[in-house]
Amino acid sequence: MSLNKSQLSSLTKSLDRHYKKLLEEVRDELDTPQHQQYIELIDRGPADSADEAIGDALADINLAIIDRHVGEIRDIEAARGRIKDGSFGSCVDCGNDIGLERLQVHPTAKRCLICQQQRERLYAAEGVPGRL
Ligand SMILES: [Zn+2]
Repeated sequence: MSLNKSQLSSLTKSLDRHYKKLLEEVRDELDTPQHQQYIELIDRGPADSADEAIGDALADINLAIIDRHVGEIRDIEAARGRIKDGSFGSCVDCGNDIGLERLQVHPTAKRCLICQQQRERLYAAEGVPGRL
């Protein structure tokens, strides 16, 4: 990984900011008595040992608007996991550096541009939308 500490910390901050905003939006959507358990989960925030829990828990809710957010929340949780295990910034397909510029635009990117484009071509051929 070619990212230095300050680059990594600024990317972490941008992930955190985005994550918070998503959770706030989801929280607003869920602000009804029947969704109280999810509100409590969001208010409690991710425990260190259960970083992945919020995205997974929210995935159980069948609301289109939440659905859109949950994908992004899980992407961010996955990116945080990669920061922790040191694989952040490396392409999951080829292992090359994803590159700072790309990460600044898409901090949750897990593929380099070349692999991502290959993947999109593949999915486009199958008629399935590619994801980051
Ligand atoms: Zn790659």
